[in-house]
Amino acid sequence: MDSATSSYFPELKRLHRAAEPDVLAPLLERARLSPAEREAAVQVALGLLADLRAAQSSGWVNQFLQQYRLNSSEGVALLSLAEAFLRVPDPETADLLIADKFGDADWKAHAGQSSSKLVNTATWGLIVGKALVSEGGQGGVLRRLISRAGEPFVRQAVGAAMKMMGEVFVMGRTIDEAMRRMKRPENAGFTASFDMLGEAARTFPDGRRYFEAYAGAIEAVGRDPATGHSISVKLSALHPRYEVAQWERCVPALTEMLEALAVQAADQGIALTVDAEESERLEMSLEIIAAVGRLPRLKGWDGYGMAVQAYGKRARAVIGWADLLGRETGRRMNVRLVKGAYWDSEIKRTQEAGLSDYPLFTRKAATDVSYLACARDMLDAKGIAPAFASHNALTVATIVAWAGQSRDFEFQRLHGMGEGLYERLVREEGYRCRIYAPVGGHRDLLAYLVRRLLENGANSSFVHQLADERLTDAELLADPVEKIAKVGGSRHPSIPLPAELFGPERRNSAGLDLQDREELASVSSSIKSLVPSEVEGRLHESSETRPSTTLGTSEMVQRAARAFPAWSARPIAERAACLERLADLLEQHRTELMAICVHEARKSIPDALGEVREAVDFCRYYAVQARTSLAPVELPGPTGERNVLRHEGRGVWATIAPWNFPLAIFLGQTVAALVAGNAVIAKPAPQTPRIAARAVELAHQAGVPHDVLILAEGGPEVGAALVADPRIAGVAFTGSTNTARKIARALLEDEKRPLVPLIAETGGVNAMIVDSTALPEQVVADVVTSSFRSAGQRCSALRLLLLQEEIAENTLEMLAGAMDTLVVGDPSDPATDVGPVIDRTAYEHLMGHRERTRNSWIKTIDVPSDGNFVPPTAIRLRSMDDLDREWFGPLLHVATWKAGELEQTVARVNAKGFGLTMGLHSRIARSAEAVEALARVGNLYVNRSMIGAIVGSQPFGGEGFSGTGPKAGGPHYLPRFCAERVTSTDTTSSGGNATLLSLDDIGF
Ligand SMILES: Cc1cc2nc3c(=O)[nH]c(=O)nc-3n(C[C@H](O)[C@H](O)[C@H](O)COP(=O)(O)OP(=O)(O)OC[C@H]3O[C@@H](n4cnc5c(N)ncnc54)[C@H](O)[C@@H]3O)c2cc1C
Repeated sequence: MDSATSSYFPELKRLHRAAEPDVLAPLLERARLSPAEREAAVQVALGLLADLRAAQSSGWVNQFLQQYRLNSSEGVALLSLAEAFLRVPDPETADLLIADKFGDADWKAHAGQSSSKLVNTATWGLIVGKALVSEGGQGGVLRRLISRAGEPFVRQAVGAAMKMMGEVFVMGRTIDEAMRRMKRPENAGFTASFDMLGEAARTFPDGRRYFEAYAGAIEAVGRDPATGHSISVKLSALHPRYEVAQWERCVPALTEMLEALAVQAADQGIALTVDAEESERLEMSLEIIAAVGRLPRLKGWDGYGMAVQAYGKRARAVIGWADLLGRETGRRMNVRLVKGAYWDSEIKRTQEAGLSDYPLFTRKAATDVSYLACARDMLDAKGIAPAFASHNALTVATIVAWAGQSRDFEFQRLHGMGEGLYERLVREEGYRCRIYAPVGGHRDLLAYLVRRLLENGANSSFVHQLADERLTDAELLADPVEKIAKVGGSRHPSIPLPAELFGPERRNSAGLDLQDREELASVSSSIKSLVPSEVEGRLHESSETRPSTTLGTSEMVQRAARAFPAWSARPIAERAACLERLADLLEQHRTELMAICVHEARKSIPDALGEVREAVDFCRYYAVQARTSLAPVELPGPTGERNVLRHEGRGVWATIAPWNFPLAIFLGQTVAALVAGNAVIAKPAPQTPRIAARAVELAHQAGVPHDVLILAEGGPEVGAALVADPRIAGVAFTGSTNTARKIARALLEDEKRPLVPLIAETGGVNAMIVDSTALPEQVVADVVTSSFRSAGQRCSALRLLLLQEEIAENTLEMLAGAMDTLVVGDPSDPATDVGPVIDRTAYEHLMGHRERTRNSWIKTIDVPSDGNFVPPTAIRLRSMDDLDREWFGPLLHVATWKAGELEQTVARVNAKGFGLTMGLHSRIARSAEAVEALARVGNLYVNRSMIGAIVGSQPFGGEGFSGTGPKAGGPHYLPRFCAERVTSTDTTSSGGNATLLSLDDIGF
């Protein structure tokens, strides 16, 4: 990127996660209206409000939407139905979906409420529909009706209603249909920007299909350029891996595709705008947009444009960047200013990633302020042709007030929204307005658009507020600048910084911004530079100071037993403080620890980061838990007696860890035992001793005495010797079910040995059940994440995908395409999705199974031949009962189930005896409830991936063959490491009943 526009990059970087008041201070100044401007804006806005209201009370669709507002439960029910209904191929599931969505809504409350007869009739339809589907439970009556009348009329009626909703939101199923519709009288005076919008591409063929749809649309619009219609392009629709980690391959590919579309649009004399998407994609999009914008071939074309999201802290700097690019390339960039459509998911992702601050504003009024400041810049900018996209009457009115006589800009609105807002401005006052017009099949598009609506369904949105009769015009038109100035631009109080997510008592583990190209490159190069020999050297150096490694297990136990009483006698607060210091040390040494995870355990960079963060979270969580749940408790009882329950250490615990979470699980089990007052001999897996050694060193540095925590490196013989030692007071083990069984047996072998607890977390044959209401794109993304990430080497990983028959083939086709986009390779490379499996033994074991199932492969992909790379493979089973054991690698087994057999399917999964994780993808809430009631698993994941349990939020651990519980990272874990002791003291026998004596005698 050349120096002029790239001069903005430090500023973009500075603003990205800057504190909200700092970002807002200059914006407030820029957005502030003079009293005269404010007065003018309010006057215009009042007129627009009247127009909007008039438009919304006309037309039955508007009235229908008015009656069933998006923030009422009935409105949400209808939209949820619309989101899923059209893609459901089988009547049985469609009926269940209708029953589910109709069932909870209170349609009667809407009876006769609308001024429209049609809407009232529709409401009666819904009331009758609900009565029909609710009696007899899930669709029972419907089924009877169908068989009696031979016609599923409720389903048909819903289908027709959905198609109507489709027409509200979708301009046309094809570009020609959309262009015809633009000629209707209601669109007179408006231009359109067509978008072949839909889900982001999941596969390369998806990307190609979208590319061709865009090219086709340009061609169609280009046949009649005088209409002034244009095209909007969403880059994520063109490439399945439009991600920072894949920068090297997606940015050039997208640049090439955008170039082809831009050249075609320029040749045909029409405009093309690049949509704005998630904040992490901004830098990539700027690079792509600049590269295409500078093409000599496009010189003189003034149709090139981009969208900018005002809710982002970088918005104003991006406007400056676009202005510069426009001036540099001798054209005015068409900049569409929007507020932004991904607010909820951006906030959630930032919290999950534990980043320093949000990339977006956290108050709605701050977004409005930013919008106004950007708008003012755009009106002044020489290199920008401004377009203001909003449905907010005040925002629009402010721009009208500022622009004065100028008409050198356009407004934009979404098809199906904001009708009435612009009609007068366009038809009587000479303003231009463009309608953003989604084009495509209702089945795909309605789902997408409705989801956007639901995701952005915040009550703070202007269209929702307009429909809220309790709000006065003065409230609707309150000045956002005043609102933000009043709170000093501060962050919204109910949106804590990610670090503060778990309240004041527990800091969230800090993440790294792996979506920042520079940060990712820097982490990756640090990891690469910490080559194994150096890692080894450092550990070797420090290991000389570790007296324990040369000890035999018996001597270890002896030393630990000697150290135990003093440690156990330490106040809980002191032990907890050691854990918190350890958490801080882990964060200080994060890159080094990640490097060891990558080199030793062959973890990918995101997995290595997740590993360190989980270890940190375990330390802080158990520290808090110890202070609260292990403190002595006085129990109620008869007067004259004191009963106190104490939790005390049991003695010396052996903690035996697996290689797949060599830091998080290794430390999690160990620090839990320690904080509960035990001494610990911690045995890592033989494959991952280095990371364990480093963790133990840091624990010692944090204040855990050397003999209280002893590292026992070695193979199964070391574990066996420890378990067999009768002085061991408890075992925490994570690994295979077989080894857990051996440990359990060994603990019982010696009849003279006390009975001691065993906490075992073992494997699972984890299934994901998918019904025909699920969104295939979401299913495929979650399947790939759950079964192939971490090379399938997570206990929670998906092993058995169970697809409802009707959707199986389509889903598998998309899955195969998504597998083709996976990068298998060196885990220290930031682009790698799937690394090798842990060692040769694991490799051969997995490859043997894979080879034996060769005839049943649905899909496999090529992998490097030099290393233990097991090709991710999907394997078809004849029956779901054919899989009865865990294959701990990237091998996914797939079977189908029949509509109506959800309960039986869960029962068959239960019958395997494992009970770790289960996934469900369904839009039917009652199906989720049914699975929740039936599934015998520790962790059920609904409509999401099945991996990545978060400490304190998703306590982890299974039942049956999958483990004993209690759950790691949950509130009941620590007490299991303790001896519970109660002391009951009779206070009457030792000199009188103090409690009674001290009671005031008034009232006797
Ligand atoms: C023609 C057109 C094209 C569009 N193209 C894009 C695009 O390319 N990319 C894109 O992302 N969106 C796009 N949008 C969608 C657009 O972002 C939303 O329609 C827009 O946010 C609605 O703004 P408003 O002024 O109509 O509504 P308002 O109700 O005034 O504002 C809603 C905005 O406030 C934000 N908000 C809500 N609560 C908070 C909070 N607590 N803190 C901070 N902000 C909050 C919402 O996220 C939303 O952005 C487009 C919209 C139009 C009309």
